[in-house]
Amino acid sequence: MKCRVCKQTAAVALPSHHTAFCPACFAAYFARQVERAVHNHRLFTPEERILVAVSGGKDSLALIHQLAGQGYNVTALHLDLGIPNSSGPAREIVAAFCAAHGFTLRVVDPAEMGLSVPEVKAAVKRPICSVCGKIKRHYMNKIAYEEGYDALATGHNLDDEVARLFANTLRWDRDFLGTQGPLLPAQGKFARKVKPLCRLSEFETAAYCFLHDLRHGATACPYSKGASFTGHKKLWEDLEQRSPGSKTAFYEHFLTHGKTAFAPLAHKDREPLQDCRICGAPSNLETCGVCRIREQVFAVKEKAGADLCGQGREAKNSL
Ligand code: SF4
Ligand SMILES: [Zn+2]
Ligand SMILES: [Zn+2]
Repeated sequence: MKCRVCKQTAAVALPSHHTAFCPACFAAYFARQVERAVHNHRLFTPEERILVAVSGGKDSLALIHQLAGQGYNVTALHLDLGIPNSSGPAREIVAAFCAAHGFTLRVVDPAEMGLSVPEVKAAVKRPICSVCGKIKRHYMNKIAYEEGYDALATGHNLDDEVARLFANTLRWDRDFLGTQGPLLPAQGKFARKVKPLCRLSEFETAAYCFLHDLRHGATACPYSKGASFTGHKKLWEDLEQRSPGSKTAFYEHFLTHGKTAFAPLAHKDREPLQDCRICGAPSNLETCGVCRIREQVFAVKEKAGADLCGQGREAKNSL
């Protein structure tokens, strides 16, 4: 197979674009897709400071590498969620990557603040991925807002966005359908959120990392099995195989036609937000969702401690 641009031997085939590229032309294509997302959706400007959430996976590493390559002012943010066999290696990968490329790295440890994912999972009777997502969003926003970054960038790619849009559409969730997209403008204590990889697929970010020799984490989170977004991605992969370009069409047409219909309805019935009495984050109740989760974790720990003391007393009395 030949590269569409220079006719050298192609290294990356992209059926959804009916094309293939050699490594150099693929790098140019990748950069162009990011430039288009930044420009078309007015995500940020070269003068602005961007906080990039870096998990250690291929998408976030490709994102910060590409943005820095385009001359943007980036700082990496890593959250350590205390997930066994996953968080430790991820943190090491991010630290080594940032050191090798000269990126400033900010690490936040929700686990040290009583919010390790295994403890949260034991205490909260809801699907762990939705709770974990809430904790991640809370801390990413907190750092971006409190430390005055102009935008918080995440490595969500086209597949992530399509899976999320699909889930939102299945529920006809007008709040999310009215706000989903590559740009969520800043509002109150919410920092601007941007997704510059929204035009690139998971395969393309993997190819980018491979061709640039970026070592990324390969250990999947042990809790990811059975998550609904994994199933939705499989469905879309199947559709894309049968009909290349479906994902891009679904997402881009939503942004141009669908979103505008839902935007006036989004969060229409939401109570005005207030500052959380504990941490000051914007919240629709007196205490924000993350502080409530932390309280649940502490309550479970206290009960376990009390049960242990009780057992100790009983054992002593029976001697
Ligand atoms: S798979 Fe779920 S639990 Fe694991 S890091 Fe992702 S959101 Fe969190
Ligand atoms: Zn080429
Ligand atoms: Zn709070």
